[in-house]
Amino acid sequence: MDEKTAARAQAIHRRAEPDYRWEGVERLPYKEDDRALFKSVSRQILFSDPDLAGELRYFEVAPGGFSSLERHEHMHGVLILRGRGRCLVGTEVRAVDPNDLVTVPAWTWHQFRATTNEPLGFLCMVNATRDKPHLPTEAELAELKAKSEVAEFLGDASKQT
Ligand code: MN
Repeated sequence: MDEKTAARAQAIHRRAEPDYRWEGVERLPYKEDDRALFKSVSRQILFSDPDLAGELRYFEVAPGGFSSLERHEHMHGVLILRGRGRCLVGTEVRAVDPNDLVTVPAWTWHQFRATTNEPLGFLCMVNATRDKPHLPTEAELAELKAKSEVAEFLGDASKQT
């Protein structure tokens, strides 16, 4: 058995561990962001293989935290696994619950927020080869916040129109 085959063989089955962890999967904390475009999010890469066209990740947003406000060419397929929260997709704000599915189309602003005292955990499917996310400029942020529901979602009660 060559090295590559051996590595694959070891990864055929990773047992679930308590608290939405998986055997042998590193949990990568995100840094806090100065512009508050993301907060308190961890990431685990569940499936990533050169022979797969996609990757599956598990993100977890701590209570009061939120995923990166961003957009990009590649899409996301999201399955909520744990907790409740809200998401922004484009200019739509939706409540999300466990087992809900959320599709994020190309070049669409998106963010997930944990709105209860429980973490919000979700699986996120992406292309293995993908473009880098774009973060909003101040002008784009102002444009997004022109819709009061979005301004409220993003935590800006002092919306100016
Ligand atoms: Mn994204």
